[in-house]
This record gives sequence, structure tokens and C-alpha cells, in this order.
Amino acid sequence: MRSMRLCANPIHRLIQRSIFKMKAYFQAILEGIQSIRKGMALTWKHAWAARKQRSIQNIQDPDYFNQQAGIVTLQYPQQQMIPPVNGRYQLHNEMDDCIVCDKCVKVCPVDCIEIDPIKATGLVGTTSDGSPIRLYAAKFDIDMSKCCFCGLCTTVCPTECLTMTSEYDFSVFDVKEHNFEFANLTPEQAAEKRALYEQFVAEKDALKEAAKEAVKTEAPAESNEAANPTPASKPAFKPSFKPSFKPKPKPDAE
Ligand code: SF4
Ligand code: SF4
Repeated sequence: MRSMRLCANPIHRLIQRSIFKMKAYFQAILEGIQSIRKGMALTWKHAWAARKQRSIQNIQDPDYFNQQAGIVTLQYPQQQMIPPVNGRYQLHNEMDDCIVCDKCVKVCPVDCIEIDPIKATGLVGTTSDGSPIRLYAAKFDIDMSKCCFCGLCTTVCPTECLTMTSEYDFSVFDVKEHNFEFANLTPEQAAEKRALYEQFVAEKDALKEAAKEAVKTEAPAESNEAANPTPASKPAFKPSFKPSFKPKPKPDAE
């Protein structure tokens, strides 16, 4: 507060004090009005600009930051943001192109991919890039509630069947619904394929055993033959080649 010179007369002093207080009071009101005017100018500026909506653009659009005025809030879900092309959102596996190689499972840092492979007895098919498929997937689950969207699984996938889509809104009421299943075998088909492979392995083992037995039974006979060689076991007669030199006929003397 500014200092003031007060009169010696008490009545004058009282009047002087009152005038000073009134001045300070109206000064404060004036400052308040100026402050409100400044603030409201900014508010009215934005309110005026909000008469129109900014166009929805991809953040990678070169004009994205040139839109300085307009409403920025989207009326979701009627209006939706355009996700960038390299955005990482919900995973999708194109099972027809999956060779069930397990690489995505191994690279995932949070173990959110689960695969149950079943070996096939032969070639199951080929992918769109010509890679042979030799395994079935009885289970191919991706738990998106655990996924940290690092994208490593899509990077290692040799057939590029595992991709991150532009689907960013997959909110659910039950977190278990974030487990996405991609396996294309029913439990019955999986059991059938498993049984087929087990039968195939059993038949192969039986054939191997039979071959081993055959070798064992042949081996003593051969050792007997080696101990008591029979004429039949003698080496067959080999004709020897003896070149004959015939003198060349002399040309007739003329
Ligand atoms: S994006 Fe990362 S965390 Fe998600 S499934 Fe793939 S590897 Fe796992
Ligand atoms: S890396 Fe690709 S091909 Fe291999 S199992 Fe995963 S999704 Fe299938």
C-alpha cells in the first residue's frame, strides 16, 4: 500500500483514508474486469473456432499439424480416428499360411502365444508363398490381454501370416475374451490327426524292428559260411584278359 501524508486534523485524516480505500477498491475492480476480458477473449476465440469440426486425418498426413482451429474431440464411435499404417494393434493369424514353426512363440517376451502342434504323416499343404506345411495346429491362441504390442512375433514369422491389424477397439466385458483362437482343427479332428500320427510312428517302429530281426537272422548264416566255405561260396571264375599282339601285315613291295 502506498504511504500517504495525513493531515493533522482528525476529520480530514478520516476523509483522506476513506478516499484512498475507495480508490484501491475501484482499482481492484478494474483489474478484475481487465483480467476477465483477457481470459474470455481466449475462450470466445476457441468457442468461435469450434463452430466447425477439424477433418479427421491420419497423423502421418503432411497437413495433420496445419489444422490449427476447430473441434478436435471425436464423437466416438460415430467418428473414428484413422490409425497409422504402421500402427500395432490387434494380432491376426492367417492360418492357411501358417507352417506352425513355433518361432512366434519362442520370440514373444510375455508368452502370450500358445501353440499345440501335431505332426502330419505327410505334406499337409503349401502356403501362398510355396512353403510346405507339415504340421497341424490343434491350438493357436493369442492372449491379447498379455500382449505388449512389441511386434516381434510378426517380424520373425517366415511366411508373414501373423500380422498386426488396424483394429484398435477390441474392448470386452470379460478379460478372457481377449484370448483369440486361430486353430482350424476341431478337438475331434485334432484327436484323429494325433492318432493317425501315432499309428504311423508305431508302423514305422515295427518295420525297423522287423528289419533289425532280419539282419540278426542273416548274420549267423554268413558267419557259418565264412567258417566252412562251400564251393558255392567260392568266387566265380573270372576270365582273364590276355592281349595278343598280332604283327601288322607288311605293305606289298612294288
Ligand atoms: S506383439 Fe510382442 S507381446 Fe504381442 S504376441 Fe507378438 S511378440 Fe508377444
Ligand atoms: S511364426 Fe508364423 S508361421 Fe511360424 S507358427 Fe508363428 S504364425 Fe505360424
